[in-house]
Amino acid sequence: MKPWWSEGVRFECQGSGRCCLSRDGYGYVYFNLKDRLRMAEHLGLKPGEFMRRYLTKDAYGNYHLGSPDKPCQFLDGKRCSAYEGRPSQCRSWPFWPENMKAKTWNEEIAPNCPGVGKGRLHSADEIRAILSEDP
Ligand code: SF4
Repeated sequence: MKPWWSEGVRFECQGSGRCCLSRDGYGYVYFNLKDRLRMAEHLGLKPGEFMRRYLTKDAYGNYHLGSPDKPCQFLDGKRCSAYEGRPSQCRSWPFWPENMKAKTWNEEIAPNCPGVGKGRLHSADEIRAILSEDP
């Protein structure tokens, strides 16, 4: 059976900052190795220094922002202050595997993200490629 998004999905970021807000203060923005190197370079830091300053390792060995009091240290108002260095999960929004179930998309993603339905049509192949990227 074809997925509901088989004809493609229009999306263009409207700069609302809503996808950057964490749930209950948990720093849920994750950084894989490539993300860590890119952000460190963007900030002009050595990777180890970037990790010490910003990241926490979870029980599964994954690195995420450790900011109990802030959704994301890089969120400045509604804007990402480190946009060029932002990690993969921010680049691939809203095309995350957990977002693409029709129910989730219709009840949680589309009503809350003003970029859904706007701008360029992302083809099914393009969405598939994003979904298969290393998280
Ligand atoms: S890194 Fe930037 S785009 Fe990603 S959650 Fe933080 S402010 Fe938002």
